[in-house]
Amino acid sequence: MGLFGLGVKLKDLQDLYVEQLRDLYSAETQLLGALPQMEAAATAPELKQGFADHLEETRIQVQRLETIFQDLGEKPGGHTCKAMEGLVAEGSDMIGEKANAAVKDAGLIAAAQRVEHYEIAGYGTVATYARVLGHQQHLELLRLTENEEKAADSKLTGFAQEINLEAAQA
Ligand code: FE
Ligand code: FE
Ligand code: ZN
Ligand code: FE
Repeated sequence: MGLFGLGVKLKDLQDLYVEQLRDLYSAETQLLGALPQMEAAATAPELKQGFADHLEETRIQVQRLETIFQDLGEKPGGHTCKAMEGLVAEGSDMIGEKANAAVKDAGLIAAAQRVEHYEIAGYGTVATYARVLGHQQHLELLRLTENEEKAADSKLTGFAQEINLEAAQA
């Protein structure tokens, strides 16, 4: 730590790691509220099911973060992810649009893929920090979540193939 650490909140990578984990915890807990609304707004059964499935995964992802905070002896709260507030607000705007069903589904996918990409970026970062800091168990948990986010993004791309065509013909 040394002299440069005095009075500095983020004095080393470990502090930044905890801060970034809090950002992800805030992001994930916001999604617990948003995903049921996305599910309700979707029309295509596979897209509805996709949102429902990812809500279940998100509950586990929150638990993984709680496990990591417990191991670190830290609390997960106290930080709001402003980026996810914005992404969720864009999703809400899309939910409120008057649109053809397939067009709205395509718009919901557009909003949801932005969310998944944000999460992939966040988990990639904290996984790298966990590796550098020697938190091997955290690394495994964070990679599990990162892979779920990537799989969710791929599934959305798959749904979009058919839904975009329907939207084009609407
Ligand atoms: Fe997530
Ligand atoms: Fe954030
Ligand atoms: Zn933040
Ligand atoms: Fe996700």
